Amino acid sequence: MRVCLGPGGIGSDYESNFRRFKDAGLGCAEVTFTHAIYMNSNKIAKTVGAAAKKFKIDLSVHCPYYINLVSADKSKIAASKKRILTSAERGHYLGAKYIVFHAGYYGKLTRLQAYEGIKKAIKDMQDVIKDSKWKVMLAPELMGRDSSFGTIDELYQLHKDTKCAACFDFAHLKAAYRGKVNWKYVFDMMKKFKFKPLTAHMSGIEWGPKGEKRHVLTPEKDIQEVLQWVKKYRFGIRIINESPDTFGDAVKTLKMYNKL
Ligand SMILES: [Zn+2]
Repeated sequence: MRVCLGPGGIGSDYESNFRRFKDAGLGCAEVTFTHAIYMNSNKIAKTVGAAAKKFKIDLSVHCPYYINLVSADKSKIAASKKRILTSAERGHYLGAKYIVFHAGYYGKLTRLQAYEGIKKAIKDMQDVIKDSKWKVMLAPELMGRDSSFGTIDELYQLHKDTKCAACFDFAHLKAAYRGKVNWKYVFDMMKKFKFKPLTAHMSGIEWGPKGEKRHVLTPEKDIQEVLQWVKKYRFGIRIINESPDTFGDAVKTLKMYNKL
């Protein structure tokens, strides 16, 4: 299947969850280290990865939220890199290709300064990943708040300069553009990224004057909108649902995809 769907979060009862995902026709899932890297060892990651493989669930990893690669406080940059690299290490043992993270905040920096800082941090981390022989790709995420680094143009530039991957968050896009997304532009840009499959997030979203407020259940019209573009561009893409019901909404998306 060209489009692979799955939930964010694998739960503690991961083996029976992977079975449940597979039985529902889902083919991927994201391991969420968003609040903590809860796997304390590579051995645990390897066990979870083997279970995922058994049920043909393609995993990715979401790093902790507490990351800012361009903080004014250097120690926070170091701590951010460490969180991403530990996630990347676990990701390698999980068999996960993409290591997704929110790269940082512009703060008092210009957009260009933030870009340069994040580019440098990504290159530094890629050196460690390469030396460690971890088979993963860093994937900074497309963000939905005005204060957060990560427009599609910034991600594409990063991809060109560092060969990193990217995570396309369709809900964040809606928040960033306050519901008025130029989907043709976005999908034309996505087409230019040279890694496969593409990886993305989906959910419903509420926004305010500064952009994203919260993720909500995925409305059918949002799913329909994205799926039509995905179909039109014939992308090989994995789409992880991040709504309050990640499994239910991933299954709903699959049902809609099958009817397209
Ligand atoms: Zn995210």
